[in-house]
Amino acid sequence: MYRIALLLVPVLAVACGSGPQDHSGVFDGRAGDWVDLSHSFSPSTIYWPTDTTGFVLTEQAYGPTEGGWFYASYEFQSAEHGGTHLDAPIHFSEGRWTNEEIPLSSLMGPAAVLDVSSRADPDYLVTIADLTEWESLNGPLPEGGVLLLRTDWSARWNDRAAYLGTSAIGPDAVPELHFPGLDPEAAQWLVDNREMVAVGIDTPSIDYGQSVDFRSHVILYSANVIGFENVTQLSRLPAVGSFVVALPMKIEGGSGGPLRIVAFVPAP
Ligand SMILES: [Zn+2]
Repeated sequence: MYRIALLLVPVLAVACGSGPQDHSGVFDGRAGDWVDLSHSFSPSTIYWPTDTTGFVLTEQAYGPTEGGWFYASYEFQSAEHGGTHLDAPIHFSEGRWTNEEIPLSSLMGPAAVLDVSSRADPDYLVTIADLTEWESLNGPLPEGGVLLLRTDWSARWNDRAAYLGTSAIGPDAVPELHFPGLDPEAAQWLVDNREMVAVGIDTPSIDYGQSVDFRSHVILYSANVIGFENVTQLSRLPAVGSFVVALPMKIEGGSGGPLRIVAFVPAP
């Protein structure tokens, strides 16, 4: 019996050893924390002043059925560009990627979190100087990375007037918008000098509220750089070292869509 056991040891080692049983190289999410960078959708979700319907959830069924089981089902209605959402390049650049055409490699990557929250006022523009100062502290913006602009405007999410600069709705409200955004010069610098796949911000728009020409949108999306808007919880991410995964609802031909965006932060 002892001899048989000895003979079996190498056989078992081959059968169960370093081959298909080895999971050491597989990401299992245990060596850190996931952070949800998304607001949930509800009737109080903030939309652009001209998207007056907002988010509508309509009950189709809720309760016991004749068959004896419980059953709940809803339908929802939403503009593409409200709440935490994707901007596909087609949103501001003809012929560029629509929602479902965006490759997965442009929806995820190492995060670079630029924190301007201490100096962000309602008309703040993130400048080239902000980007180069970040690089002097953290090294170059990561190739294939996701730039996340942290203004902490997300703390105002429950106060529409404080978040948008106005509580008015309709086209007349648009000139009253005030919130921080990305300076078009900085958008151009990013496109010309770095290889970021996406830019996200914790305000309603990549361009600041007072923009009249949405030039940062045009510059980024013309280069097929993706946009994420109304993100949240950026204060929970380090400047470097986290990994972002942003998966929108996959709408054929869409210019954007509801987005679940999360980040994995490795344990220190
Ligand atoms: Zn948008």
